[in-house]
Formats: sequence, structure tokens, C-alpha cells
Amino acid sequence: MTPDLATLGKLADTCIHCGLCLPACPTYTELGAEPDSPRGRIYLMRALIEGRQGATPDVLVHLDRCLGCRACETACPSGVHYGRLLEGVRGTLAEPGRRMGLRTLFWRPILRQVMPDRRRFRLLVAPLRLLARGDRQWLPATLRRAVDALPPAAPIASPAPGPTTHHPHGTGGHPSDRHPQADSRLGPCVPARGPRKGTAGFLTGCVMPALFPDVNAAAVRLLAAAGYDVVIPQSPTCCGALQAHDGDLGGADRAAASTMAAFDGCDIVVTNSAGCGAAMKDYPDPAFASRVRDLSEALIEADWWPDRPLEGFRAVFHDPCHLRHGQRVTTQPRELLRRAGLLLAEAAEPDICCGGAGSYTLLQPALSSALMARKVKNLSASAPEIIVTANPSCLMQIRAGLAGRADPPALFHLAEVLAQTLD
Ligand code: SF4
Ligand code: SF4
Repeated sequence: MTPDLATLGKLADTCIHCGLCLPACPTYTELGAEPDSPRGRIYLMRALIEGRQGATPDVLVHLDRCLGCRACETACPSGVHYGRLLEGVRGTLAEPGRRMGLRTLFWRPILRQVMPDRRRFRLLVAPLRLLARGDRQWLPATLRRAVDALPPAAPIASPAPGPTTHHPHGTGGHPSDRHPQADSRLGPCVPARGPRKGTAGFLTGCVMPALFPDVNAAAVRLLAAAGYDVVIPQSPTCCGALQAHDGDLGGADRAAASTMAAFDGCDIVVTNSAGCGAAMKDYPDPAFASRVRDLSEALIEADWWPDRPLEGFRAVFHDPCHLRHGQRVTTQPRELLRRAGLLLAEAAEPDICCGGAGSYTLLQPALSSALMARKVKNLSASAPEIIVTANPSCLMQIRAGLAGRADPPALFHLAEVLAQTLD
């Protein structure tokens, strides 16, 4: 929802200037400058809101460097909703009249028009995969990073494995005694295995089907194994997070409205992308927001346990910022990995962003690379055999950070690891 100036002013006024957020802020710890800290940015945003300052390039540069990681919210004793403030200011005060550089002019249509649309995004990924096969050295640095971050091509699969997939309202029998509410927007349904816990709507997302179809398939199998009937609406494809982070509040509102309509009738709404979960938990309809679960939350709530735990591989979990700070979900993924039989070490600086942050890697390549190197160093310190995370942007960023290393650890989404324990 597009906020008015009074609402933005109230959000900014909750800051008491204590500075406790500064050590938690990745850009402040990298650059050491107050305007690149949460407190400094709030000061700049308040000046914009009150009309004491225009949206000049020397102000916007500091707002643009913000990752939107929300580590400052976790550290803040005053309860500042920094993410909401930043998105509101970007959408209402920072964007109008912005003079865009070449990089923004190139990437913005891709971020706003291509990535949220599953079909268009697949068309974009195809030539990137061709580039990945050739010599990458001649590519511009940002494009090379995008190519390095691409996961290996996987067959474009339905998120639900074929043999168990059927439509909940089709002629095939449904094992559950209570079907999801009849609704033509609902797609395939995978029936619960064992005692039924409820109906989980699964958000396939915009980039996951093209880049990580196996992760979506694994998440659906896990939810069914945990006792959920899983329904998979075929549209919409985007929750609106990408648009909101980029300041396109109208596009974000439209995506939110169609997402809420698509999951009408589901007991819970599950995502395996931390950014989508944080965005949907922040929707203005509290009845919908309270039904949203990260995959790890849904599995813990259903008391899921592996059929066959794995051998004790050394592993480390990387917290996506929108899981750790945006949703305050930290214990559930670790508990699930322990149940799966992994020996889990803790990396240093778990609060600090990997520099992926959605489009950040494209729009702020230098800072993004510095944070990527810092994150990969911390994750590698315990010599793990496996690195696990729970967000597509983090998977791609860490993959790019490990590129070229001799004998790198294997990198997985949480769902892929847990699904390996299923019969
Ligand atoms: S969102 Fe992240 S980068 Fe931005 S001010 Fe807060 S801690 Fe710093
Ligand atoms: S910790 Fe919170 S109140 Fe203190 S300066 Fe940072 S944002 Fe403001």
C-alpha cells in the first residue's frame, strides 16, 4: 500500500538515534560512513519527508546502497520498521524525478517487467545459459556475475511430481475428507501422506520455476510427507517483493492482491523463498499474513521427521536476511537439519547479508562483491562439506562466491537436503 507522508513521518520518528544498529549494518561496516548507516539513512529520509531536502543524487546514493536486509530492525531497541520506511520513501519520494544511470536504465525493465513474469524470465535465462557455456572473460563484470550465479540447468519440472499430482476438483479420488475450497485458480494438488494436518497453498514464485525447479518439487514432497494436502495455484507468479524493493509500489500492490485471492481457502500459505515470505507476512490483510509460513516453519509445526536421516555430513546454514531479520525465523531450519542427521556448525556474522539482496548484485556490484567474499569466507571457516540456505538470491550469490574454488562445499536449498531423507 502506498503510504502517505504522515505515515512515513511516524515511521521515521520512532528512531531515537541511539546508534545500536550501526554495527549490524553491512554497508556501515564496509564503508564506515554515517550516511551509509541505518541512523544516517533515517536522517536523510526524514529530511526528504519533511521537504527539507530534495531527492538529489548525493542523497539517493546512500539510499541506493542500502540492501534492505533489515538487520537494523533486529538490532533496534525502539522498534523502527526500517524496511517499511525504506520501501515507502523509495516508492514515493526517491523515484519521481530520479535521473537514472545506464546500469539502472538497463536493469530496471528486467527487474520490473521480466523477472516477476515466469514466462518472460525463462526467455531471459535461456541466452544467459548459452553465455555460461562460452568464455566469460569478455563479458561486462555485472553480466559475468549473473552468469556465474546461474545454477546448473535442470529440467523444467512441475513443482509436483507427476504420479501423485491431480486436480483437487477433478474426477480422481482425493484421500482427504475435506477438500480445498473449490476455486478454478487452484492448480494441481498433491495429497497428504499419513495423518492430515490441513491444506497448504504453495507459492511457486517467479524465479524458482526457471532456476530451481527441483527445489520446488522437493518442498512440495516435504509438505505432503508432513501431512498437508498441497495446492499449487498456477497464477500469480510473483508476490510483489521484487517490485516493492525496487520502489514500484503500484506493481507490488497489484501482485499482493492477486496473491491473496489465489490462496483463498488454504489453511496456510507456504513459500521456500525467504524474500517472498517476508513480503507476504507484511501484506496489509492480517488474516492472510498470519497464514503465511516459511517451509521450515510449516514442517516444524507439523512435527515432520525424516524417514531415513542422512550420514553426519559437516554443514553450515546461511540465514537469508528476509528469514532471519524479516521473519525472525532462525531456529527452525537448524532444527530440521539436525533432525536430518547433519552436524551443524555456526558461521561468524550470521546477521550480515551475503550481498545478494534481490537486485543488489546487479545494481551495486562492488559492494555486493565485497559482502559476498566476506560471507563465503565466514561460511567456509569450519570447512563444511555442505552449505545450506533458504532463498534463491542467496543460493545464487554464494554460488558465484564459490566459483573457481578448488573442491568447494556442496550448496543446497534446505528443501533439497530434507527431501533426501524421504522414502
Ligand atoms: S536494511 Fe541493512 S543495509 Fe539497509 S540500513 Fe538496515 S542494516 Fe543497513
Ligand atoms: S537502533 Fe533503532 S532507534 Fe537506534 S539509531 Fe538505529 S534505527 Fe534508530
